[in-house]
Amino acid sequence: MSDEKTADVLRKLDVLKTRFREKASGDINLVTLMAQDAIAGKGSSDDLLRAYQVLHRLAGSAGTFGFRALGDEARALELILKPFSENDGEAGESVEKVKDDLHHARFIERVEGLERLLNIEETSPDTAEMSESSKVDAAGQPVVLIVEPDQAAAERLSNALAPHGFNAYPVAPKNLVSENLSRISMVLIRDNVLIAQEQIPLSSGDRPPVICIGSSDTFEDRYRLAALGVDGFVSEPIDVPALADYMERLANEKLESGSGRVMVIDDDPELLERYSLILEGGGLEVRGVSSPSDILGVLSEFRPDIILMDVQMGRFSGPTLAKMLRFDPEWVGLHIIFLSSEEDREFQFDALSQGGDDFLTKPVSDRILVQAAKVRCYRAKQLDKLASRDSLTGLLKHSLANSEVAKEHARCQRLAHHSVVAMLDLDHFKQVNDRHGHRVGDLVIKGLANLLRHRLRKTDIIGRYGGEEFIVALPDCSIEDARQSMQAVCEQMSKIAFSGAGGTFSVTLSIGIAPLDSYEKPEDAIEAADRALYVRKSAGRNGVTIVNDLDSMKQGA
Ligand code: GH3
Ligand code: MG
Ligand code: MG
Repeated sequence: MSDEKTADVLRKLDVLKTRFREKASGDINLVTLMAQDAIAGKGSSDDLLRAYQVLHRLAGSAGTFGFRALGDEARALELILKPFSENDGEAGESVEKVKDDLHHARFIERVEGLERLLNIEETSPDTAEMSESSKVDAAGQPVVLIVEPDQAAAERLSNALAPHGFNAYPVAPKNLVSENLSRISMVLIRDNVLIAQEQIPLSSGDRPPVICIGSSDTFEDRYRLAALGVDGFVSEPIDVPALADYMERLANEKLESGSGRVMVIDDDPELLERYSLILEGGGLEVRGVSSPSDILGVLSEFRPDIILMDVQMGRFSGPTLAKMLRFDPEWVGLHIIFLSSEEDREFQFDALSQGGDDFLTKPVSDRILVQAAKVRCYRAKQLDKLASRDSLTGLLKHSLANSEVAKEHARCQRLAHHSVVAMLDLDHFKQVNDRHGHRVGDLVIKGLANLLRHRLRKTDIIGRYGGEEFIVALPDCSIEDARQSMQAVCEQMSKIAFSGAGGTFSVTLSIGIAPLDSYEKPEDAIEAADRALYVRKSAGRNGVTIVNDLDSMKQGA
């Protein structure tokens, strides 16, 4: 995050803290008055219930704003009132007892003392690391540094990585320290540079993954590199497609472990805003909901990876809301974490049995909040991927790709825009397997998947349809733009040099495209693209063919 943005977050946090302090001060006065009335025999049992609720809220939020001593004392006072909150409305016979109990507990003095605790803040607020997530260039390609004393070798590697969609450029070892690492997605570094310097010459904070290129392949050297903290190792001669695939995996892991979508549900507006600011500052996407009745709407629109939820929001109980969400099969697997100041084990167990997944105990430090949310988002996404993504390529599986294409078809009708569907198939792929083996064949399939991911827009739909067959949908795109973009993919693919048992080789692919919105049903458009693909196959492969039934369709056939 830029300094300016960090300063902005810190300023907003300060404003929130001031708001909290003012509100807390009002709350303390209110509780004091109610307790005085109760002791004077004037108050009703309703007043005590209110006082209990106010203290409960204060106990749950003070620590988060940095007033831990206030939070602890409010919690202790809350517990004194708890018995009255439980036999609400039936306290008639016990008015005398209430007076006695409050008197004995020096309740009034202690409530008045809360005001003083409002001046004790934790000196060093535990603010989370603010992270920058954009590590790609203007064209959306990951930026990679090559630290290699041999300039010519560095240039060669940079050129070889370009068709795979990496913007890699050489940097002299001595210039590495002056690079702005926040925009680098990965560093490739020669082993002797590391071994000579006896450290990774990068600041350890939020450094990008480091892959070491090694000429020496001894156990001792590898062990030394691992001890230096290197994330990956490739030995020479470099198999570029295998390296590109490895880089792709590392970059995705790193990216995904630092991102995610979090829905926060809390009825306290200051707490909600604070959690949102802290999580956003940590690089997460956040949607705050203060009214439980809005949950279902926001859920289907925002589609979070996880939910952070308060345990009690006015008349709504968090665990019951969790149970209600699980009614819908779509949200059965959604990870729900309760933000609870409740120390009651029994209660927590009950909440878990009703559909919550785990707890964070309030007050939770900013750093832990961000980390906990990130770890759980990462895990949620991994699980989701297992179910919906093809394990070899990470692309959408057949059925999910189909339903995404169907959604895009519906969107075309709603928004009256044009979209294109394309079917892709590798040429003479059986020969690749026959000549170079199945494992090398797999690398070719992954190579095309990675190329598509890098070359296409974030909004494009990419699926692995079958063995070496892919489906792509390009939303809001003319057939001519689609043809050009797919033609570029064909050209890039043919430039990748794969290495197999019989030396290096390249692979071409054939693509058929059809206008998605010109067909009544999405599956008709897919079939049309498939027809165009087979026309391309018999017309010599390696290129793009547009379906030829457009004219007949225009006549309303
Ligand atoms: P054409 O140009 O006509 O498409 O020829 P082709 O050889 O590609 O023909 P075809 O589509 O019939 O062959 C696909 C081959 O892809 C057959 C199958 O063994 C292979 N294949 C399918 N899935 C995988 C996979 O996951 N990994 C590997 N390595 N090969 C696969
Ligand atoms: Mg084929
Ligand atoms: Mg095929």
